Amino acid sequence: MKTTDFDPQAFKSYFPALADDSIHYLDNAATTQKPASVIEAFSAYYSSTVGNAHRGSHRFSRAATETIESCRHRCAEFINAENANTMVFTQSCTAALNTLAKGLAENLQAGDEIILSLLEHHANLIPWQEVAEKKQLKLKFLPLKNGQLDWQAAKPLISDKTRIVSITACSNTLGCSSQLGELKKLLPKHCTFIVDAAQAIAHQQIDVQELECDFLCFSAHKMFGPEGLGILYGKQERLNDLPPLLSGGGMIQQVSLQNSSYLNAPHRFEAGSPATANVAAFSAALQFFKQWPLTQMQQHINDLCEQAHHRLSEFSELTLFSQANNTAAIVCFSLQQQELNIELADYLDQNGIAIRHGHHCTQPLLQELGQSSLLRASIAPYNQLNDIEALVNACAEFLSAQEQIKSETELSSNELDSKRAEEIKRAKSWQQRQKQLILWGKNISTKKDIQQAHLLIPGCESALWLEAKRGDGHWHFRHDSDARLIRGISALILSWVEGASSQEITDFDFTKAIDELQLKNYLSPSRSNGVYSLVEHLQNLAKD
Ligand code: PLP
Repeated sequence: MKTTDFDPQAFKSYFPALADDSIHYLDNAATTQKPASVIEAFSAYYSSTVGNAHRGSHRFSRAATETIESCRHRCAEFINAENANTMVFTQSCTAALNTLAKGLAENLQAGDEIILSLLEHHANLIPWQEVAEKKQLKLKFLPLKNGQLDWQAAKPLISDKTRIVSITACSNTLGCSSQLGELKKLLPKHCTFIVDAAQAIAHQQIDVQELECDFLCFSAHKMFGPEGLGILYGKQERLNDLPPLLSGGGMIQQVSLQNSSYLNAPHRFEAGSPATANVAAFSAALQFFKQWPLTQMQQHINDLCEQAHHRLSEFSELTLFSQANNTAAIVCFSLQQQELNIELADYLDQNGIAIRHGHHCTQPLLQELGQSSLLRASIAPYNQLNDIEALVNACAEFLSAQEQIKSETELSSNELDSKRAEEIKRAKSWQQRQKQLILWGKNISTKKDIQQAHLLIPGCESALWLEAKRGDGHWHFRHDSDARLIRGISALILSWVEGASSQEITDFDFTKAIDELQLKNYLSPSRSNGVYSLVEHLQNLAKD
């Protein structure tokens, strides 16, 4: 490790949520923890000066207005915007991207083209898909080359119909930067250039004038600020030409019964009472962030990221998808047996290590990479070597436990064996129960014939397919999932009602049975939702 003059321990001491050293928070690309000054600013606003900004002449309203407008100035300074009027507060980065897609599309014609990339977060994809469908626009995508955005591939994609290019500055899944400067040089003048800086904002000095972008957006919560606040930057003349997504109070110049005129930016985009506490907290986050040396912080997290890549690359059971020196300090990996990813994420969670599992809101990217899920550890300046060690050691423990499970053999050929359910009930701890469920899941056969969209049970993090058939008044089930644990849990639930009549299913107390096994205490909400939607599906079948 290289030494730097940034002190991560001093940095960490400002974060109350990280006071417990047994916590290893490595999900910073999803959201960052908050320093005390941000929490205090939020609570100070509610403790003393609540008022509705821009809505009154009394001192409380004036103070709220001052809170918002001073933060606007700070934001403008932070990204070197021309002036504070170019900064719009939104609910999130997602809301900012929706404002752009829906507003800009109003002036587009059928056949016009929009260029995005394979790296985009769903927030910078779905709004464009919606407007493309509505207005018959064409979406084109910059491909990847060696795990990075291939900006040179923009050349053949650009045509005289290209109207908008909207690209992430930094991938939330792989952490790589998009070389926006190079890309910008290829774009024709008439083309609107949008930058999604949601990930880049905490890792790179963003200068909108240097980037020469028309619009840029990010969220406060990814840079130690509060949730529920996004920032939309736009060149002033572009913002004033853009129709707002929301209309109502606070954004108008004049209103009559039949029509209204709107204020200029930024207020034309801020209809409704503002989230002043969030803005106050974000001001504190900007002040906090500015105190620390960005280059050294970046060096620190890059060192940790390299270390994590180096250590994880020693496991032959695991594939790394991110590059060791990526901008956002992301460690993106998968077990070769992809169905175990979800179990590893659970195991890490049980050991106080928070990483993200799933598609990271980039499903097309995962399809390109041939993955159904990825694991992502994402590093922030408060992380230290012990967090990386905890991650690596827990991965090693998990993998060695898998070796043991591999050697255990199937006991019963009946997949929905009720005797097995009884054994699970008798398990003394969740760990033991989980192991039994995993073993059960491991021995459920793959059933390609039922892996069909109409048999998919919604609401579960993993795919779960169920085929239900009724013969002689009794129900029989076949199921499959892309995760062993889910196959096992579903087998357990289905074993309760295999061969039952509709009346018996209706009478069965699923909630009691699930509570008795304490299943929901140990399953992440996205998975316990899946369990409940399976139950709901069974109850609905029985009703028909
Ligand atoms: N863009 C990128 C690259 C992201 O990583 C995210 C969130 O993870 C978003 C957009 C959406 O941000 P938010 O959920 O804060 O609206």
